[in-house]
Amino acid sequence: ATPTALLVGTGRGAQLGILIKGPEILERTRRVDTVVLDKTGTITQGRMALTDVLVPASTEVGTAEGSTTGAATTADDQQREALRFAAAVERQAEHPIGAAVVAAWDELAAAGPRGAAGVGEDGVQIGSDEVYDFSAVAGRGVVGVVRTAHSGLGLGRRVLVGRPTWLAEQGVDTAALTTGFEAAERDGATAVMVAWDGRARATLVVRDPLKDTSREAVDDLRALGLRPVLLTGDNPGAAHAVAREVGIDEVIAQVLPEDKVEAVRRLQSEGRQVAMVGDGVNDAAALATADLGLAMGTGTDVAIEAADLTLVRGDLRSAAQAIRLSRRTLRVIQ
Ligand code: ADP
Ligand code: MG
Repeated sequence: ATPTALLVGTGRGAQLGILIKGPEILERTRRVDTVVLDKTGTITQGRMALTDVLVPASTEVGTAEGSTTGAATTADDQQREALRFAAAVERQAEHPIGAAVVAAWDELAAAGPRGAAGVGEDGVQIGSDEVYDFSAVAGRGVVGVVRTAHSGLGLGRRVLVGRPTWLAEQGVDTAALTTGFEAAERDGATAVMVAWDGRARATLVVRDPLKDTSREAVDDLRALGLRPVLLTGDNPGAAHAVAREVGIDEVIAQVLPEDKVEAVRRLQSEGRQVAMVGDGVNDAAALATADLGLAMGTGTDVAIEAADLTLVRGDLRSAAQAIRLSRRTLRVIQ
């Protein structure tokens, strides 16, 4: 292969919004036969919106409006409190779930003239909630100690937000919320629970719309003879709902970040040449392990560093373009 022709290929890539780390990568790109796609932020917008806050004892009320009946006032208070404490912790996080929770709380806090959404009982601004001892556990959830400015909480309240299985490992009783949680997942949503003092207080339901171009991008990959596989840490309900919408048959769901690498290796051991497309910190190791790693330019720096190729615009169609370009460039050379 002549270096000049390869460099022409990489220059054309740059024009298409594809950054290639070195000309030699084109050769690997050409050989790929399987494309593993992360879900959140890769196929979907990664901009989740909170759609429900479910509290125990079938008292749930939509979040858009307040309570619908006088009897729901208590549920409304429970929802508000759960959302507020979850948002305080999630404000420190980087996950799209956290962004949805924070946005919903901020909207509620800004909106409420009555119910003092943004103001505590003593008139102190709730925006001044403080969090310390924060930590994010990849693929599981977040935890932090929340101290409110106005309340007599003293040392603060240790709040966890995340997967119920992870909460249960920390001694949280999740039973009162299980039914609603499972129903939300079956419905294709992503759900997490918020807990403190050993008890799950609410299920937070978020939804993440597809990117406009994802369906076309998957069609393009298939047209090139590639097998698309969806790989996600999210639950099987949400994973299959997205897979159906974009036309992917092969789904690997509920994979912990450290196991994404294992999933890529398993495909490789079947003799497949695997490209992986991802955007998150949780995708970095898998991007490095794959025969070809493609990072969304809109994703995290860690993912971009681990990848061979960056899709600058975060448009999945560029993945197919990169593969088409590499095939064309190398055909010219040979
Ligand atoms: P994906 O592969 O779809 O990008 P992740 O591995 O990032 O998914 O996350 C998987 C799961 O971990 C989420 O669906 C959620 O249950 C939990 N999780 C991760 N980060 C958070 C967070 N900041 N708050 C609550 N839950 C979280
Ligand atoms: Mg992701």
